[in-house]
Amino acid sequence: MRYDAIIIGGGPSGAATAIALASQGRAVAIVEKSPFPRNKVCGEFISPVNLALLDRLGVGERVRDLAGPEIRRLALFAAGPGIEAPMPRGRGDAFGRALGRDVLDGLLLEAAASAGATVLQPWQASVAVRDGDDTAIGIERSGERRTLLAPVLIAAHGSWELGGLPSQPKRQHLPSDFLGFKAHFRGSALASDLMPLLAFPGGYGGMVWADQGRMSLSCCIRRDQLDAVRATHRGLPAGEAVLRHIVAACPEVAEVLRNATLDGGWQAAGPIRPGIRDCYAHDIFSVGNVAGESHPIIAEGISMALQSGWLLAAELARVADWSRAGRQLAGQRYAVAWHKQFPLRILTASMLAGLASRPLGAGLMRRFVGAFPASLFLGAQLSGKISPIPGVA
Ligand SMILES: Cc1cc2nc3c(=O)[nH]c(=O)nc-3n(C[C@H](O)[C@H](O)[C@H](O)COP(=O)(O)OP(=O)(O)OC[C@H]3O[C@@H](n4cnc5c(N)ncnc54)[C@H](O)[C@@H]3O)c2cc1C
Repeated sequence: MRYDAIIIGGGPSGAATAIALASQGRAVAIVEKSPFPRNKVCGEFISPVNLALLDRLGVGERVRDLAGPEIRRLALFAAGPGIEAPMPRGRGDAFGRALGRDVLDGLLLEAAASAGATVLQPWQASVAVRDGDDTAIGIERSGERRTLLAPVLIAAHGSWELGGLPSQPKRQHLPSDFLGFKAHFRGSALASDLMPLLAFPGGYGGMVWADQGRMSLSCCIRRDQLDAVRATHRGLPAGEAVLRHIVAACPEVAEVLRNATLDGGWQAAGPIRPGIRDCYAHDIFSVGNVAGESHPIIAEGISMALQSGWLLAAELARVADWSRAGRQLAGQRYAVAWHKQFPLRILTASMLAGLASRPLGAGLMRRFVGAFPASLFLGAQLSGKISPIPGVA
């Protein structure tokens, strides 16, 4: 089958790109390897500025209907009582909210199909080879194989999984790697409008009310710290051991979870790969985590995924044709737009993550934020929570 564009990955970045391109009348195929609904290691918070973009993508109303409460306050939970600050609000007084990734990703992929994209799911893309002016993408499931052709190939497969595609990581494990964990809880005593940042030795995390009475707790922890934690709590599953470590460092977390019960199990992923990568290389466009990733301490990955897909689709729409020259021009312009939008938040996140996870960092952070609670508000602003999105009213 031949398409104008093939997108590998049906998470927020892939689906947003597919909706925007299909709405331009392009023949788009999106390849997603997992059946939905599927859960995801993610705190699930969506910054307020994205609500207008979700409207443009056709799912804003459903997201508002289904998401958890408005998050009006931020807090730092580290050793000692929590410290609070207001959360920046978006245009029209919008506040950010959280929505389970099992729900959000399904809504977006359905919207892509409604916009006219062909959704190939569950199919895994395993190989991409240039074939004249097209790229040939090999996809497979349960022993069945197909080849898809398109001039435009978009990598939206996230950054945490190994694979044979040119855009996938070839990984080397390091003690300083951060691994992600996430679980949903029911019956938590967390204030409904509060999103605390958790700082603990070797890592950081967050808690927020999502949809359907679920509170998500997600965190990242260094591999060497995880090894030490697992040695201390021998016999416990990794997620439970990490939770004990967090509770020991952040007394407020124990309070919030006193009567809470785990909903489903713990999920783990990673190592995460914070940093800035190529927006366009080897004639492949990248969106979402493939193009660049912030430490999740600022909860901006969904924003960057949706917004990068939107920016790429806008640049592809501006070129007259999708020949090699057209793709190169769109790639250059997309890289410029991407670098205007995201590096500050990636840098902010990296500084915060470095501080929070250092041995004495949580204490330092607590003292600083205690003296200047407004720094929490400023950190949220620097992390792009209300930064305008080009082309979105
Ligand atoms: C602990 C933690 C907490 C976080 N909390 C937040 C938060 O609160 N708010 C926030 O905004 N961000 C958060 N993030 C970041 C956020 O989860 C990611 O940045 C976001 O999911 C990236 O979206 P994406 O579309 O680029 O990739 P993904 O969401 O990873 O989607 C990629 C998709 O591609 C599919 N895929 C992969 N390989 C293939 C293949 N070969 N063929 C076909 N399909 C494939 C996968 O199945 C997946 O569905 C958090 C991350 C972590 C680790």
